[in-house]
Amino acid sequence: MSTLNFFLSALVIFISIESYSMTILVDPGHGGEEDGATREFQGKVIKEKDLTLEFAQKIFEKLQKKHRVFLTRSMDRTVTLQERANIAEKIKADLFISIHMNSSPDPRAKGFETFYLDNHDDIAVKKVEKTENTSVSGESDIQQILIDLAISQTVATSKPLANIIHASNKAKMQGRYSMLSRGVKPALFYVLALSKRPGVLLEVGFMTNDDDLKKLQDKKYQDLYSEALASSIDQYIRSKKKLR
Ligand SMILES: [Zn+2]
Repeated sequence: MSTLNFFLSALVIFISIESYSMTILVDPGHGGEEDGATREFQGKVIKEKDLTLEFAQKIFEKLQKKHRVFLTRSMDRTVTLQERANIAEKIKADLFISIHMNSSPDPRAKGFETFYLDNHDDIAVKKVEKTENTSVSGESDIQQILIDLAISQTVATSKPLANIIHASNKAKMQGRYSMLSRGVKPALFYVLALSKRPGVLLEVGFMTNDDDLKKLQDKKYQDLYSEALASSIDQYIRSKKKLR
Protein backbone atom coordinates (compact mmCIF):
# COMPACT_ATOMS: atom_id res chain seq x y z
CA MET A 1 0.00 0.00 0.00
CA SER A 2 1.39 3.41 -0.96
CA THR A 3 1.78 6.08 1.69
CA LEU A 4 -1.03 8.07 0.12
CA ASN A 5 -3.38 5.07 0.08
CA PHE A 6 -2.52 4.29 3.66
CA PHE A 7 -3.20 7.90 4.64
CA LEU A 8 -6.54 7.92 2.79
CA SER A 9 -7.77 4.67 4.32
CA ALA A 10 -6.74 5.88 7.79
CA LEU A 11 -8.69 9.06 7.13
CA VAL A 12 -11.78 7.09 6.08
CA ILE A 13 -11.61 4.99 9.23
CA PHE A 14 -11.17 8.12 11.32
CA ILE A 15 -14.14 9.85 9.69
CA SER A 16 -16.41 6.81 10.02
CA ILE A 17 -15.54 6.43 13.72
CA GLU A 18 -16.20 10.13 14.23
CA SER A 19 -19.63 10.06 12.54
CA TYR A 20 -20.50 6.89 14.41
CA SER A 21 -19.98 8.41 17.82
CA MET A 22 -22.67 10.19 19.83
CA THR A 23 -22.89 12.08 23.08
CA ILE A 24 -25.16 10.07 25.35
CA LEU A 25 -26.41 10.97 28.81
CA VAL A 26 -27.36 7.95 30.93
CA ASP A 27 -29.66 8.84 33.81
CA PRO A 28 -29.99 6.50 36.81
CA GLY A 29 -33.43 7.38 38.21
CA HIS A 30 -33.83 8.77 41.76
CA GLY A 31 -30.89 8.85 44.22
CA GLY A 32 -29.96 10.42 47.56
CA GLU A 33 -33.13 11.46 49.40
CA GLU A 34 -35.23 9.77 46.73
CA ASP A 35 -35.27 6.00 47.04
CA GLY A 36 -37.79 5.44 44.24
CA ALA A 37 -39.64 2.15 44.71
CA THR A 38 -38.58 0.07 47.72
CA ARG A 39 -39.40 -3.39 49.00
CA GLU A 40 -38.14 -5.97 51.42
CA PHE A 41 -36.95 -9.10 49.67
CA GLN A 42 -35.09 -12.08 51.13
CA GLY A 43 -34.38 -10.15 54.33
CA LYS A 44 -32.96 -7.06 52.59
CA VAL A 45 -34.43 -3.68 51.73
CA ILE A 46 -34.11 -3.20 47.98
CA LYS A 47 -34.20 0.36 46.66
CA GLU A 48 -34.89 1.39 43.09
CA LYS A 49 -32.20 4.11 43.26
CA ASP A 50 -29.50 1.45 43.85
CA LEU A 51 -30.64 -0.80 41.01
CA THR A 52 -30.91 2.10 38.56
CA LEU A 53 -27.32 3.07 39.40
CA GLU A 54 -26.06 -0.51 38.91
CA PHE A 55 -27.69 -0.72 35.48
CA ALA A 56 -26.62 2.80 34.48
CA GLN A 57 -22.99 2.10 35.34
CA LYS A 58 -22.99 -1.07 33.25
CA ILE A 59 -24.68 0.72 30.35
CA PHE A 60 -22.12 3.52 30.71
CA GLU A 61 -19.24 1.01 30.43
CA LYS A 62 -20.67 -0.65 27.31
CA LEU A 63 -21.54 2.58 25.50
CA GLN A 64 -18.23 4.20 26.38
CA LYS A 65 -16.41 1.91 23.96
CA LYS A 66 -17.83 3.88 21.03
CA HIS A 67 -19.43 7.04 22.39
CA ARG A 68 -18.97 10.06 24.62
CA VAL A 69 -21.01 9.02 27.63
CA PHE A 70 -21.98 10.82 30.83
CA LEU A 71 -24.00 9.87 33.90
CA THR A 72 -26.38 12.28 35.67
CA ARG A 73 -25.07 10.77 38.90
CA SER A 74 -22.35 8.23 39.61
CA MET A 75 -23.13 7.83 43.30
CA ASP A 76 -26.06 7.86 45.70
CA ARG A 77 -26.99 11.54 45.66
CA THR A 78 -30.08 13.67 45.10
CA VAL A 79 -30.37 15.17 41.61
CA THR A 80 -33.54 17.05 40.68
CA LEU A 81 -35.25 16.40 37.36
CA GLN A 82 -34.30 19.93 36.26
CA GLU A 83 -30.65 19.34 37.17
CA ARG A 84 -30.66 16.17 35.06
CA ALA A 85 -32.04 18.18 32.13
CA ASN A 86 -29.41 20.88 32.71
CA ILE A 87 -26.63 18.30 32.39
CA ALA A 88 -28.12 17.16 29.06
CA GLU A 89 -27.98 20.77 27.86
CA LYS A 90 -24.47 21.36 29.16
CA ILE A 91 -22.92 18.36 27.44
CA LYS A 92 -25.14 18.84 24.35
CA ALA A 93 -26.39 15.27 24.62
CA ASP A 94 -27.57 13.67 21.38
CA LEU A 95 -29.50 11.05 23.36
CA PHE A 96 -30.91 10.88 26.86
CA ILE A 97 -31.51 7.46 28.42
CA SER A 98 -33.26 7.35 31.78
CA ILE A 99 -33.23 4.09 33.76
CA HIS A 100 -36.00 3.05 36.17
CA MET A 101 -37.47 -0.03 37.84
CA ASN A 102 -41.22 -0.46 37.86
CA SER A 103 -43.51 -1.37 40.77
CA SER A 104 -47.15 -2.35 41.12
CA PRO A 105 -49.62 -3.24 43.88
CA ASP A 106 -50.18 -6.44 41.89
CA PRO A 107 -47.20 -8.75 42.48
CA ARG A 108 -48.03 -10.59 39.23
CA ALA A 109 -47.27 -7.49 37.12
CA LYS A 110 -43.94 -8.09 35.38
CA GLY A 111 -41.80 -7.33 32.35
CA PHE A 112 -39.91 -4.47 30.76
CA GLU A 113 -41.20 -1.51 28.82
CA THR A 114 -39.76 1.37 26.83
CA PHE A 115 -41.22 4.86 26.91
CA TYR A 116 -40.78 7.93 24.71
CA LEU A 117 -42.25 11.37 25.21
CA ASP A 118 -45.70 11.83 23.69
CA ASN A 119 -49.32 12.45 24.65
CA HIS A 120 -51.58 9.46 25.27
CA ASP A 121 -54.72 8.22 27.04
CA ASP A 122 -53.37 5.14 28.76
CA ILE A 123 -54.49 5.03 32.41
CA ALA A 124 -51.89 2.41 33.36
CA VAL A 125 -49.12 4.61 31.93
CA LYS A 126 -50.48 7.59 33.91
CA LYS A 127 -49.86 5.60 37.09
CA VAL A 128 -46.23 5.03 36.10
CA GLU A 129 -45.85 8.75 35.32
CA LYS A 130 -47.17 9.63 38.76
CA THR A 131 -44.41 7.68 40.51
CA GLU A 132 -41.60 8.77 38.20
CA ASN A 133 -42.58 12.45 37.98
CA THR A 134 -42.60 13.10 41.71
CA SER A 135 -39.49 14.61 43.12
CA VAL A 136 -38.73 15.68 46.69
CA SER A 137 -37.04 18.79 45.42
CA GLY A 138 -39.77 20.79 43.79
CA GLU A 139 -40.67 20.78 40.12
CA SER A 140 -43.92 18.87 40.64
CA ASP A 141 -45.62 20.27 37.56
CA ILE A 142 -44.42 21.54 34.25
CA GLN A 143 -46.73 23.30 31.86
CA GLN A 144 -48.43 21.34 29.11
CA ILE A 145 -47.24 23.95 26.61
CA LEU A 146 -43.61 23.12 27.43
CA ILE A 147 -44.34 19.43 27.21
CA ASP A 148 -45.99 19.89 23.79
CA LEU A 149 -43.00 21.85 22.57
CA ALA A 150 -40.61 19.14 23.78
CA ILE A 151 -42.78 16.48 22.07
CA SER A 152 -42.68 18.34 18.76
CA GLN A 153 -38.90 18.64 19.03
CA THR A 154 -38.22 15.01 19.90
CA VAL A 155 -40.97 12.56 18.92
CA ALA A 156 -39.79 11.96 15.36
CA THR A 157 -36.45 10.76 16.74
CA SER A 158 -37.47 9.32 20.10
CA LYS A 159 -40.18 7.01 18.80
CA PRO A 160 -37.97 5.09 16.31
CA LEU A 161 -35.19 5.09 18.91
CA ALA A 162 -37.57 3.53 21.46
CA ASN A 163 -38.69 0.91 18.92
CA ILE A 164 -35.12 -0.11 18.10
CA ILE A 165 -34.02 -0.25 21.77
CA HIS A 166 -37.06 -2.28 22.73
CA ALA A 167 -36.70 -4.76 19.86
CA SER A 168 -33.05 -5.34 20.75
CA ASN A 169 -33.84 -5.86 24.44
CA LYS A 170 -36.70 -8.14 23.51
CA ALA A 171 -34.48 -10.30 21.28
CA LYS A 172 -31.92 -10.73 24.06
CA MET A 173 -33.99 -10.77 27.27
CA GLN A 174 -37.01 -12.76 26.16
CA GLY A 175 -35.15 -15.87 25.10
CA ARG A 176 -32.57 -16.57 27.75
CA TYR A 177 -34.31 -14.96 30.71
CA SER A 178 -37.92 -15.19 29.49
CA MET A 179 -38.48 -11.58 30.50
CA LEU A 180 -41.92 -10.37 29.41
CA SER A 181 -42.05 -7.59 26.84
CA ARG A 182 -44.72 -5.00 27.72
CA GLY A 183 -44.03 -2.97 24.61
CA VAL A 184 -43.12 0.55 23.55
CA LYS A 185 -45.38 3.29 24.88
CA PRO A 186 -45.82 7.05 24.76
CA ALA A 187 -45.70 8.75 28.17
CA LEU A 188 -45.30 12.19 29.70
CA PHE A 189 -42.22 11.88 31.82
CA TYR A 190 -41.01 15.26 33.02
CA VAL A 191 -37.36 14.30 32.87
CA LEU A 192 -37.73 13.62 29.12
CA ALA A 193 -39.73 16.82 28.58
CA LEU A 194 -37.29 18.97 30.55
CA SER A 195 -34.25 17.56 28.75
CA LYS A 196 -35.81 18.40 25.34
CA ARG A 197 -33.53 15.77 23.78
CA PRO A 198 -34.33 12.64 21.82
CA GLY A 199 -34.55 10.03 24.50
CA VAL A 200 -36.24 7.15 26.22
CA LEU A 201 -37.20 6.14 29.72
CA LEU A 202 -36.63 2.44 30.33
CA GLU A 203 -38.58 0.53 32.96
CA VAL A 204 -36.22 -2.43 33.18
CA GLY A 205 -38.52 -4.70 35.21
CA PHE A 206 -40.85 -4.89 38.22
CA MET A 207 -39.29 -4.78 41.67
CA THR A 208 -42.63 -5.97 43.05
CA ASN A 209 -42.47 -9.23 41.08
CA ASP A 210 -40.19 -11.86 42.64
CA ASP A 211 -39.03 -13.36 39.33
CA ASP A 212 -38.31 -9.95 37.81
CA LEU A 213 -36.48 -8.74 40.90
CA LYS A 214 -34.20 -11.79 40.96
CA LYS A 215 -33.22 -11.00 37.37
CA LEU A 216 -32.76 -7.30 38.11
CA GLN A 217 -30.30 -8.17 40.87
CA ASP A 218 -28.43 -10.71 38.72
CA LYS A 219 -25.13 -9.22 37.46
CA LYS A 220 -25.23 -11.41 34.35
CA TYR A 221 -28.70 -10.15 33.56
CA GLN A 222 -27.55 -6.56 34.07
CA ASP A 223 -24.66 -7.23 31.69
CA LEU A 224 -26.83 -8.76 29.00
CA TYR A 225 -29.38 -5.95 29.23
CA SER A 226 -26.64 -3.34 28.95
CA GLU A 227 -25.09 -5.11 25.96
CA ALA A 228 -28.48 -5.28 24.24
CA LEU A 229 -28.96 -1.58 24.85
CA ALA A 230 -25.51 -0.64 23.55
CA SER A 231 -25.96 -2.69 20.38
CA SER A 232 -29.38 -1.11 19.83
CA ILE A 233 -27.72 2.32 19.77
CA ASP A 234 -25.46 1.04 16.96
CA GLN A 235 -28.54 -0.17 15.10
CA TYR A 236 -30.20 3.18 15.62
CA ILE A 237 -27.21 5.01 14.15
CA ARG A 238 -27.16 2.64 11.17
CA SER A 239 -30.89 3.19 10.59
CA LYS A 240 -30.38 6.95 10.58
CA LYS A 241 -27.57 6.67 8.02
CA LYS A 242 -29.82 4.67 5.69
CA LEU A 243 -32.43 7.43 5.78
CA ARG A 244 -29.96 10.09 4.70
ZN1 LIG B 1 -38.26 5.35 39.00
